[in-house]
Amino acid sequence: MKPTHSPLFNTGLLINGEWCASSDNTRFAVTNPATGDVIHEVADATPADATRAINAAAQAQPLWAAKTALERSNLLRRWFALLQEHQEPLAQLLTLEQGKPLAEARGEIAYGASYLEWFAEEAKRIYGDVIAPPENDKRILVTKQAVGVVATITPWNFPNAMLARKLAPALAAGCTVVAKPAAETPFSALALGYLALQAGIPAGVINILPSTRAQQIGEELTSNPRVQKISFTGSTAVGKQLIAQSASTVKHITLELGGNAPFLVFDDADLDAAVAGAMLSKFRNAGQTCVCANRFYVQEGIYETFTDKLAIAMEQLKIGNGSDEAVTLGPLISARAQEKVGALLEDALNRGARIRYQAKMDAELSAGYFFPPTLLVDVPTEARLSCEEIFGPVAALIRFSTEEQAIQLANDSEYGLAAYAFTKNSARIKRLSDELQTGMLGINTGVISNAMAPFGGIKQSGFGREGSRYGLDDYLNIKYTCESFS
Ligand code: ADP
Repeated sequence: MKPTHSPLFNTGLLINGEWCASSDNTRFAVTNPATGDVIHEVADATPADATRAINAAAQAQPLWAAKTALERSNLLRRWFALLQEHQEPLAQLLTLEQGKPLAEARGEIAYGASYLEWFAEEAKRIYGDVIAPPENDKRILVTKQAVGVVATITPWNFPNAMLARKLAPALAAGCTVVAKPAAETPFSALALGYLALQAGIPAGVINILPSTRAQQIGEELTSNPRVQKISFTGSTAVGKQLIAQSASTVKHITLELGGNAPFLVFDDADLDAAVAGAMLSKFRNAGQTCVCANRFYVQEGIYETFTDKLAIAMEQLKIGNGSDEAVTLGPLISARAQEKVGALLEDALNRGARIRYQAKMDAELSAGYFFPPTLLVDVPTEARLSCEEIFGPVAALIRFSTEEQAIQLANDSEYGLAAYAFTKNSARIKRLSDELQTGMLGINTGVISNAMAPFGGIKQSGFGREGSRYGLDDYLNIKYTCESFS
């Protein structure tokens, strides 16, 4: 069945359990980045729709929070099972609108589902405290309560998993949600909403608003006093704006913003493992992940060998439409993304970087937003792509001589989301773990994300954590009750 003929495919707003048109009846077209073809139109939410969705979420919230933890857990688990059952059509839909290879899309659905499973379990483990009081006729109780209505704003690079990773802890905690997915990829979000309803999650608990009016919807979500929390994944610029906008109503905020991950390869590394890690970290989703290796720092003793091995591995990438099973590298999300990566590459070349390898692309790919995988060597530290998120399949290699220098280069960034290092020296591993300024560190691995671990950054990469037992804290208020027995 074509993804657009599946019951998972919906083109309306999801408000209070119903699929509806936008208040001004407008729609917008969503395109397939591999071909430039329009997939379908979808309702374009207005600020009035956002208000309606917030009201629905606010009405549903006390009822949802009043369910027992076990009831919420069982519903999350049923939803998880439906995602697993529909993994294939969900993956096909994801590839259609996002472009990533099908194998990666299947992986993303499994990854998104794993958050539902994890938080179905964590829902049952929301503990409080009883604290020793200052007088013996008193009792100090600490309980945890849902923060209330949560607004989520998510990007297009993981249209299923970025949303699932916010919805799962929110629902586990007893919160209800108004979600604004990225306009580039609304269908995967709407499919998640459809399956939530199928699982029996009540109307109003999850509301989903595809929209091209991000700024206006964002203003309503951040200024409406019925919204208690904003959870955002996206660019640092928009994150800063959301912090400012949320100030007037003092909202809880979780931000997962941009990254500029350093990837350190030391002379003593297992080079084949380092190359395998580099390929996963750099080329997954065509380089469009926030934890992507952005700057490769390679120690001088193995610089040439590592470069040669990486070039050989890159030659194996098969570029094309992600729905072709053989393809391992899909398109970028848009023409704008193509231009941005092109500009960063040109800037680096103008400053003295050299192209060591660049894939040739078939003419038939010209209708899509493809970018050739490119290996750049001798990249100067002042090149824009050393300090800005590349978000494309360009690997930028920089040579270093000492560990101290590598750590200093790695930390010389306003971002601190992910970092990677390949070395066999355990004392060095300890030093890197202590000194690298990052929220997440992969040692001898290029893949670090999973539902059990706390995902999040420091510095201008944001705050708050998603996944793991820490991920629930962001959706819970602490309440202290003092009981007197005198
Ligand atoms: P990117 O450039 O990768 O698309 P953005 O931060 O612009 O990153 O987008 C991430 C999410 O934030 C998307 O859902 C987008 O629609 C939304 N967004 C963009 N601008 C704003 C804004 N001013 N207010 C609220 N949401 C926004």
